[in-house]
Amino acid sequence: MPLVSASSSLSPAPPTSGARTIYKYRVRVSDVSKILCHRHHNGTEEYLVRWNVAEGSATNKRTICSWHCLGELSKCLHHVQEYLETLPKSQPAASRSAPFATIPAVGSGSGSGSRKRKFSRDSDTPVSSSGVLTLRDSGYLSREPSVISIDSSSAASEAAPIQTPTVYNGILQRKEGSIVAKKSRDPAVQLTDARTLPNQAMLSDAARASVTAAEYAIQAAFQAKLQSVKNVEWENHVDNTAPSLNFTFVSDFVLGEGVYRPEADAHVGCETCRPNMGQNIGCEYPRLCACLEYAAVDENRLQPGDQARYVQYQKDQEDDGYLADSHGLPKRFPYQRSKDPQVPSTLMKFYLESRYPIYECNLNCNCGPICKSRVVQKGRRVPLVIFKTANERGWGVYCKEQLVKGEFIDTYIGEVLTNEATGRREMLSAEDRASYLYSLDKFIGDDPDNDLTNETCYVVDGQYMGGPTRFINHSCEPNCRQYTVSYNKHDLRIYDLAFFAVEDIPPRTELTFDYMDKDEEEEEIVRKKRKKDAADPKNHDKRPCNCGARKCRGYLWE
Ligand SMILES: [Zn+2]
Ligand SMILES: [Zn+2]
Ligand SMILES: [Zn+2]
Repeated sequence: MPLVSASSSLSPAPPTSGARTIYKYRVRVSDVSKILCHRHHNGTEEYLVRWNVAEGSATNKRTICSWHCLGELSKCLHHVQEYLETLPKSQPAASRSAPFATIPAVGSGSGSGSRKRKFSRDSDTPVSSSGVLTLRDSGYLSREPSVISIDSSSAASEAAPIQTPTVYNGILQRKEGSIVAKKSRDPAVQLTDARTLPNQAMLSDAARASVTAAEYAIQAAFQAKLQSVKNVEWENHVDNTAPSLNFTFVSDFVLGEGVYRPEADAHVGCETCRPNMGQNIGCEYPRLCACLEYAAVDENRLQPGDQARYVQYQKDQEDDGYLADSHGLPKRFPYQRSKDPQVPSTLMKFYLESRYPIYECNLNCNCGPICKSRVVQKGRRVPLVIFKTANERGWGVYCKEQLVKGEFIDTYIGEVLTNEATGRREMLSAEDRASYLYSLDKFIGDDPDNDLTNETCYVVDGQYMGGPTRFINHSCEPNCRQYTVSYNKHDLRIYDLAFFAVEDIPPRTELTFDYMDKDEEEEEIVRKKRKKDAADPKNHDKRPCNCGARKCRGYLWE
């Protein structure tokens, strides 16, 4: 059983220029509890791992800790990312409330200078002409360590490498492609109180050592994740961070435990409609199409004979809400379609300005794929870019193309969880998770059995899984709004949360929606209320809203 020496036989020989080092042995993600510190050791950027081995808890005195280069941590980069977020930032901080400054500033100005701006003039970092790090640029594993800028103080420490052990409280072994940490009784194994790590000397070294290689490794890893998503890019002209590596892009809802959704072939379709009715655009008769059973009634098309039915319908609405019996009355189709195939379908003015659910046709309809009642189900068509906002609002989203008022953008997806599961997750996380959670509560109070309540409705959690819309920021005066879109009128629990443009949006304009989904108010009223709220001490703990809109309400949540 070979002991790993202080000079770390696990670290490969410095790669020859241009060759990509293949790291055959890597630390398994499940073995890492946390990254504690970083350093430059023999010219390589290294990270101190606190192991999560079965022998002891992560807070145990004899927990194994060891230093590793990024190649060995390529499966654990999200841990490295979490560590980097705790470092003091020399650039404007992101909007997240990261735990700050575990590293004391040592010497004069040595702490902040090491994190370089990606696009500063003197930057020697590999960035494509578009400013986005591409996979091709990311030969970080093969880069000579000398490209990392070293100030005079750390150059001195390069000359005299720090004589610290590479492993504490154990030994490392190579096993089936993995690096494994083991306790050892060998007297040569140095024992340290792991609770004292990182020690003062490590913190001093860290304050001088840059984290450039890790930042590029993380950016490249996020770029690799994005490869699977069509028509979405990301860019960061503000700092060197990437969106969370703990996030996975998915293309549909991921149903959690205890969440039930009927299969698509069980949906009830409009059987009387045909593809070739009238103008050959599928469903065309608003009294006939069964998919519109619960759609909004079209008052403009009411005939004198409908009056009694309509009065009854209005009464039913008080009890049954969106499920009021509107049988026989004319309904409103959701979308208008241009004859020009280049022009996108847009949401009808009525739906755009109301919160009425939108019903699309489905697999079992006889109207066929050309039916005009199929928009959201065909998915996103517009190219989106996830970008770092310059004004401390974290990541945001813009569209590269012009969007017209009423145009569909994309849906909000994620894990669909029961209310209990959501609660359990919230207990485990100290983060402000509310911004990623979406209650599927549209039909509460409308279901005939009254089973659907705030406690029993499902919740969409976009924090760990989702699509690009998960990065859309809040605004109190938004240019997009979320609408309820259903293909299965009998399923009141799972439906699409679809974003549409509520105004014409020029290309490269940040997309926003109102997290509170409030109705629009007069600017003067909002301004007065904001002033009053700001003076009220009970609001001082609330999270301020930085949307910058004229109609900003001042706080993100109620
Ligand atoms: Zn149809
Ligand atoms: Zn139909
Ligand atoms: Zn239909």
